[in-house]
Amino acid sequence: MEEEYFCPICNEKMFISQFEVSCVYCGIKAKEDYVCGKGHYICEKCRTANPKELILNTCKISKEKDALKLAILLMKHPGVPTHGPEHHYIVGCTFLTALKNLGIFNISSSDFDKIVSRSIKIPYGACGSWGACGAAISAGIAFSVASKANMLSKNERRNALTIVSKTLGEIAKLNGPRCCKASVFLTLIKALKIINELYGINYEVDENYICEFSERNEDCLKERCPFHGK
Ligand SMILES: [Zn+2]
Ligand SMILES: [Zn+2]
Repeated sequence: MEEEYFCPICNEKMFISQFEVSCVYCGIKAKEDYVCGKGHYICEKCRTANPKELILNTCKISKEKDALKLAILLMKHPGVPTHGPEHHYIVGCTFLTALKNLGIFNISSSDFDKIVSRSIKIPYGACGSWGACGAAISAGIAFSVASKANMLSKNERRNALTIVSKTLGEIAKLNGPRCCKASVFLTLIKALKIINELYGINYEVDENYICEFSERNEDCLKERCPFHGK
């Protein structure tokens, strides 16, 4: 009997496509490979990529303006664990993608590498051991890289600090134990709202996302989390 595969994005059964399909991560086109009824296809390179490769390859070519949507897609990849330090640069890289695709900053491919090389210095569990969650810090890193901020900058430095401090405030309010998914959602939603204010744009931020990761999280905050489905 033929093996059954289920879509990691939507859980629908997958079948061999007769039509050309595009990889949901890198966009590469293929025929006669597994795809679900909603058209989700993941190419072999993306299927076997480690989280860092997947996140960098996807964000560097993505045209997505919705950082939260992009982060959710990345977190659905089977290689991305429920919790872990990859969530730090998932925020930085998806936020940078949004800043690029909203046309706010000119971003180069190497800017994404800078996000990862700075973010990997933040240890897993920094929320508890440093008092600063890596997801929030990585959003600050993304803004600093995009705006070329350094310690002598004026507004750029202020804005990077504002993004980190306000997103940390949201994570603190949620209380513990930590949930890397909730930290990603809260940080990206708040950071995009701050960008709207700073640049006078009106990009709609979806605050009503219902978390699809709850079942695989033993420490899920359930009713205490604003993203928990009723
Ligand atoms: Zn699917
Ligand atoms: Zn791919």
